[in-house]
Parts: sequence; structure tokens; C-alpha cells
Amino acid sequence: LATHFLDRIEASDLNAFLHVDRALTLAQAAEADQRLAAGNAGPLTGVPIAHKDIFVTKDWRSTAGSKMLANYVSPFNATVVEKFNAAGMVTLGKLNCDEFAMGSGNENSAFGPVLNPWDKKAVPGGSSGGSAAAVAARLAPAVTGTDTGGSIRQPAAFCGITGIKPTYGRVSRFGMIAFASSLDQGGPMAQTAEDCALLLSAMAGFDERDSTSLSPEQGGVHEDFSRDLEQPLTGLRIGVPREYFGEGLAADVEKAVRAALQKYVELGATLVDISLPNTKLSIPAYYMIAPAEASSNLSRFDGVRFGHRAAEYKDLQDMYRKTRAEGFGPEVQRRIMVGTYVLCHGYYDAYYLKAQKIRRLIAQDFEAVLNGPNAVCDVIMGPVAPSVAWDIGDKADDPVANYLADIFTLSTSLAGLPGMSIPCGFGEGEKNGNRPVGLQIIGNYFSEAKLLNVAHQYQ
Ligand code: GLN
Repeated sequence: LATHFLDRIEASDLNAFLHVDRALTLAQAAEADQRLAAGNAGPLTGVPIAHKDIFVTKDWRSTAGSKMLANYVSPFNATVVEKFNAAGMVTLGKLNCDEFAMGSGNENSAFGPVLNPWDKKAVPGGSSGGSAAAVAARLAPAVTGTDTGGSIRQPAAFCGITGIKPTYGRVSRFGMIAFASSLDQGGPMAQTAEDCALLLSAMAGFDERDSTSLSPEQGGVHEDFSRDLEQPLTGLRIGVPREYFGEGLAADVEKAVRAALQKYVELGATLVDISLPNTKLSIPAYYMIAPAEASSNLSRFDGVRFGHRAAEYKDLQDMYRKTRAEGFGPEVQRRIMVGTYVLCHGYYDAYYLKAQKIRRLIAQDFEAVLNGPNAVCDVIMGPVAPSVAWDIGDKADDPVANYLADIFTLSTSLAGLPGMSIPCGFGEGEKNGNRPVGLQIIGNYFSEAKLLNVAHQYQ
């Protein structure tokens, strides 16, 4: 299996992989063979996996898609990597992504764009673009991704695969290079919900090395996420938010999503009209909070402790300035500046604090429909993104156009809720006809097993 996928990776021109090391992979595969022979194997033993280059690894470089970390090798493995190693999975290498996971098209990687395997003129989505493209092109059967504001769900949608962002705190952030700590959440991406369930069962769980990891008392207990896959959907109430079907949604995406909803009705579900009135505010709130946290997290890249350092400088200040100007790409620099600005004394209340209040309102929108005895639906469904994948280059110079395309994924992240994306067809016309559409399924906190069940019944 490992050889099969390594050969495919070597022959691929998608730029999905940043680091591959055949000898390392084959050594891990040999260990898995021994475990299998000794009868000491689980369901994932010997199955190849590749990791987004945001998860640090001892044996491979970890760049986060940034020149700043171009030659960085971590002295330890991320918890997620350790967990998959312990399950006997075989690492194929590390996957390209937007720099520090900032982006929606994988065009912000310092190591070049990733091509969408369905149409090489299109972006694969971002920031986990390498992850999604690798699964779609059959370069890896399973991958990890991270989702801060949509980076698992949107590339899964653009590449026609399945991905799940768990409830915030389910999956350890230890060893996940930080972008916006109150939003960052790792998750699996694969062909099917069934595969994602197996992967998430190995990946999730309390980790005392991550201060926001959910403890067993908070619900961070080990779960078998495959347990409900075969449950029938009779009586399932699907909330359909008005705000997800308004102006700005491409007609071909709407058509594919509505057809998927109809299929759910055939499977026994009922559709409930709901409103998430603060959806619109998720873009301004997210694009204050995420950069604010990023500006703080990225202060560690000072040319001393990690990665790149400018070759020539006059004094310490000059070294910082040159190192950061050389090491960070334009989008990362923009976020650091926006984030620093909104945190400034004098602006903090007007921007950052206000954004935090809006974040609460957005979470309350979901609570009102999903939570408690007055809940009107069991899950929420809608599009993942307002359009199919755009052309490489089309939005490359327009940050706001990129931000606006995140409208349907940001609020889930701000609320900390789980969300997933499953393929539900293609766009229309000569250009979009071969570009996949994703259906988004959102649920209450800790409802991952339910989401995977709902996805599996469709697939
Ligand atoms: N596109 C969003 C951003 O650029 C989300 C990225 C992510 O989820 N990592 O911040």
C-alpha cells in the first residue's frame, strides 16, 4: 500500500506534497507489517496517511506553508501524529497548505499553489488544499487537516471529498502550529464519512498538554464515532437556514444542495425553515478575532527561537524587522497588522471586544435552534461555499474576495460547533461542470457521531 501511494505521489504534478521520504515511510510500513503478523493490529494499522504541514513531526520538516519555517524540524511530534502512529498508520509525508493556514485557495503557500485534481485550472480550496487534493487524486487514502474558519470543510467541498471539523477542544492542538488558538481545530479528511469516523476515533481525546482540550468531565471522553453510522434517518429534523440560500449563492451550487436536501427527505428526514440572523456578521467578527490571535501567536517568529533569520542586520530591532519582512508572505503580514491594530489600546473596545460580543450572538443563533427542549432541528444543512472552486489567480490579489467566500463556514467555527462537508454533485456549464459542490452538515456540540451517521446514510 505504501509503495502504491508513494509511486502515485511521485508521478503527480499537483504540488500537494511538500515533503516525502520513501525510506522513512517504508520503514514505518515494515513495522506495521510486523504488527499485523503478530496479530497486534487495529483497523488503521498499515493504512497510509499524510499530514497537513501544520502538524509538527520529528522525522519530516514542518513548514506551515511558510518561508519562515522552510527548514524547520520539530524535536517532537504533534499529539495527533503520535495517535496515528500508535494506531499503526504509515505516514506518506507532509501536505501543502496556505501559509499558517491563512487562506481559502491554497494560493498563500510560500511553496506554490496546489492544483485541483478535478480541473487543474482551479484552486483546491484552502487552507488544507494539499490535504483535499491528495485524497481526491488518490495520492493518500486519509489525511489530516485543520479548520479555523472552514479550512477542512471548504477544500473538502472543492475537491469532492469528505471532511469533518470536530467540536472545538475535541482534537488536541498540541503540536499544531497555531494560527488563531480559540478557533483552530484539527480533523480528518478522506473519501467517506465511514473513513472519517474511524480516523476521528483515533484522533480525538483529552490531552493535558493542550489547555483548551476538553477534559473527560467536559465531555472529552473517548468515543467510537462509527457506532451510529447505520442508524436510519427517519424523523431527522434538518434545519435549513434562510441566510445560507440568499443573495450571493451561485445558482448551480444552490441546485446541487437543494437536490441533496430532497434526497434526505426521501431518506425519512423533514426540512425545517430556520434563521441564523447574525450570519452576515461572522465575516467582520472572524476577520478581527482570527488576526488578533494570529498577531500574538506569530510573535514567536522572531529570528531567534525558530526558523528563518535575516542574513544581515544592524541591531536587534533591525534583525526582527528584516527576518519578519523576509519570512512572512503578504497575507500573513496583513493579518499581523490588522490583528495588532484591533488589539491596540484605544481600539480594543471598538473592534476586538465588539467582535467578541458578536461571536456570542452568533453562538446564540445556533443554540436557539439546536439546543435544549425548544430545539427545532437535529442538524443544520446548507452549502459549504457560495460557489464551486474558482480559477487559480482569480482572487489571488483580492483578500476581501477570499474573505467573503468564507461566509458559510465561519459562524460554525466562531461558535465552536462541529461541521462537515460531503460531496453532493457538481456545478453546471462548461467551466463548472466538473467542479464539485459540498453539502455542509452542522450539529450541536459533541454531535460528531450524529453528523457522521447523517453523512454516511447519504453516501
Ligand atoms: N479562510 C479562512 C482564513 O483565511 C479560514 C482558514 C482556516 O480555516 N484555517 O482565515
